[in-house]
Amino acid sequence: MTQTNSPIPASPAGSPQFADVVRQAVADGLLGERQPVAGFIDTDGVRTSVAALRNAFPAMPHTLHTFAAKASSLVPVLRLLAACGMGCEVASPGELRLALDAGFPPADIVLDSPAKTRQEIRLALALGVAVNADSFDELRRIDELRTRDSVSVLGLRVNPQVGGGSIEAMSTATATSKFGVALHDEGAREAVVRAFTERPWLTRLHAHVGSQGCPLELIARGIAQTYELAEEINGSLRTQRVTSIDIGGGLPVNFADDTVRPSHADYVAALREAAPGLFDGRYALVTEFGRSLLAKNGFIGALVEYTKDAGGRRIALTHAGAQTATRTVFMPDAWPLRVGAFDAQGRPAAGPLLVQDIAGPCCFTGDVVAHGRELPELREGDFVVLYDTGAYYFSTPWAYNSLPRPAVYGFSRGAGGKGVRFAPVRDAQSLDSIARESGLAHADSLTRLGAGARAGGEQ
Ligand SMILES: *Cc1c(COP(=O)(O)O)cnc(C)c1O
Repeated sequence: MTQTNSPIPASPAGSPQFADVVRQAVADGLLGERQPVAGFIDTDGVRTSVAALRNAFPAMPHTLHTFAAKASSLVPVLRLLAACGMGCEVASPGELRLALDAGFPPADIVLDSPAKTRQEIRLALALGVAVNADSFDELRRIDELRTRDSVSVLGLRVNPQVGGGSIEAMSTATATSKFGVALHDEGAREAVVRAFTERPWLTRLHAHVGSQGCPLELIARGIAQTYELAEEINGSLRTQRVTSIDIGGGLPVNFADDTVRPSHADYVAALREAAPGLFDGRYALVTEFGRSLLAKNGFIGALVEYTKDAGGRRIALTHAGAQTATRTVFMPDAWPLRVGAFDAQGRPAAGPLLVQDIAGPCCFTGDVVAHGRELPELREGDFVVLYDTGAYYFSTPWAYNSLPRPAVYGFSRGAGGKGVRFAPVRDAQSLDSIARESGLAHADSLTRLGAGARAGGEQ
C-alpha cells in the first residue's frame, strides 16, 4: 500500500470526535507540559458497546461474553466490564491476576494462555476458572493435574486452518499457526474425537479465528467448522459431550472513520449464514472480543513539543510514538491511525492544511505514527489526538528508551450534558518507578560479581 491510497482521510470532517474531552483535558491539566501524553477511555462508549454486543446475539440463557484482557489490561477497565456483566478471557498468569483483582467470578474467567505452566493450570483448576487446552500435550497435563472436585469447564482449542487475512502476524487460522490443534492435518480430526471419547470432563470446543485484517466470512467459516466438529464428536459419542462452543473474538475494527463496521450484529448475521445450528440453543456460547469492544472507545492525546522541516517535509515532534503506538510505528500500512490536530487550548485546529509527519519521542528514525498526513499546521504547544486507540495501544506500552507508561483516564459526559468528568485509571509512571524496574535494587551486583576472584588472582 502506498501513502497516496491510504484508507485514512486527511482529517476528520466536521467537529472532530471527542473535541469536548480534549478541551476539558487540556483545561484540567491532564494534558499539557506537565503531562505531555495520556490515554483516555470513553466509559459511556464502553457501556454502549457492551450493550450492542449483547443485543447482537440472540437471547439464549447460557451465553457468556468475555472480554480479552490483553486488549485493555487495566484493572478499572476490567472492573467496568465486569459491572457490565461480562466475563474475562486471560492468557497469562498476570492477566489472570488482573481479572481476579477486577472482581470477575472465577467461573466467568476463561484461561487461554498458549504456553500454560503446570502451576498455572493447577491454579486455574483450583479456582474453577475455565481452561482451553491448546494441544493434546496440554490435555495430558490436565489429566495429571485435575482433581475430581474441580468445577472448571475444560475445552480444547482447534485451528480450523481456514487461512489468513491481510495481516500475517494477526492471522490465527493459517495452516501453520501456533494456536490450537490443526484440524486439517492428517489424523488430527480423529485424534480430537478420541480425546473427547477418553475424557468425559472435556466438554468445550474453542476456536479464535482472526483478528484485524480478516474478512467476516473467513472468520465465520472457521467457527462453522468448529461447530461441525462439535456435531461430529457428539454424533460419534451418541451423547451431547460438547455442551459449549467458545467462538473467540477477532472481529476487525474500522480505523478509517467514526463508523463501527463491521458491527457485532453483522458478525452474528455471518455466523447465522455459515452455521445456523450454532444458535438453536443446544450449545452454550462463549465469546472473547477485545479490539471490537474497546478500540473506538479510546484515544491518545499528546503535546507537540517542537516542529521542524527536513528534506522539504514538515515534522511535528510529539510525545506519542512507538512507546504507545508500537504496531502503528512498525507496520504503518497495516495499522494506520487517524490523527486529529488541536490548538494549545485543546480546540480543533483550524487553518490551511499542510502535509506533515507526526513523529514520537523515541530515539530511532522510524518513530513516526503518521507519514505525510494533511492536517492544519501544527505548532509548538498544540496537541495531536490518535483515534481508535482504546485497545492494544496506551494500555500496553513499550518500555523503549525508558519512556514512562503514560497516565490513563476514563471519562464520562454524564446524564443531561453536565460536562466531561474524568477519573484516573492508571497513574503516569514515575522516574523512581523506572529506576526500580531497571534493577536499581541490584545496582552493585555486577561490579561486585567476580571482584573477589579478581582480587584473589592478583595475590
Ligand atoms: C487476542 C485474543 C482474543 C481477542 O482478540 P480481538 O481481536 O481483540 O477481538 C480472543 N481470544 C484469544 C484466544 C485471543 O488470543
